Amino acid sequence: MNATTHAVFGVAALAGAALVAGAEPPAYVYPAAVAAAWLPDVDNPRSTLGNGLSRMKNPTLNLLSRPLSWALRTTSFVLVRTVGHRTLTHSLVGVFLFSLTVWLLLGGFPNLVLALVAGYASHVFADALNTRGVPLLWPAGKPFRLLPGGIRSGGAVEVAVALVALAFTLYALLLLYPGLRGAIGLQPI
Ligand SMILES: [Zn+2]
Repeated sequence: MNATTHAVFGVAALAGAALVAGAEPPAYVYPAAVAAAWLPDVDNPRSTLGNGLSRMKNPTLNLLSRPLSWALRTTSFVLVRTVGHRTLTHSLVGVFLFSLTVWLLLGGFPNLVLALVAGYASHVFADALNTRGVPLLWPAGKPFRLLPGGIRSGGAVEVAVALVALAFTLYALLLLYPGLRGAIGLQPI
């Protein structure tokens, strides 16, 4: 699945989880869900985050983003040299370790924790729809696929799936934020 599909799935997962949990996440946590939805592919040095962050025009922002960029590149290098791509980060163990770390570090910000965990888990779910599947029980077991055959990365079916996820996201956001309904001319709930 490409970065755009993962971003859509990340936002969809956050909106869906917020509906189920009865939460109303503030706007700033949505980009966090997108970043978390890209994070499992950090084990691929050519992925959006594995390649580090691009240089920012603002010098202050650039200075702040450099350490994070180096940390991402280092993590990417270590993961690809030790466990390889689509292993630990795409498994239940990976989801658990990520959730535990986020909860320990950011437990005081439940909406942010919800966004990061939903985003991360959405990546593994999206890749499970893929032809290659995901090694859910890594280091044991075969790759797990949600669909027989799976969806080919970059194909028309992936675009269709991303559009369905986008439609779900819009619907969920309208339910979550009644004010949005008024803004687009619908009756407020
Ligand atoms: Zn992946």
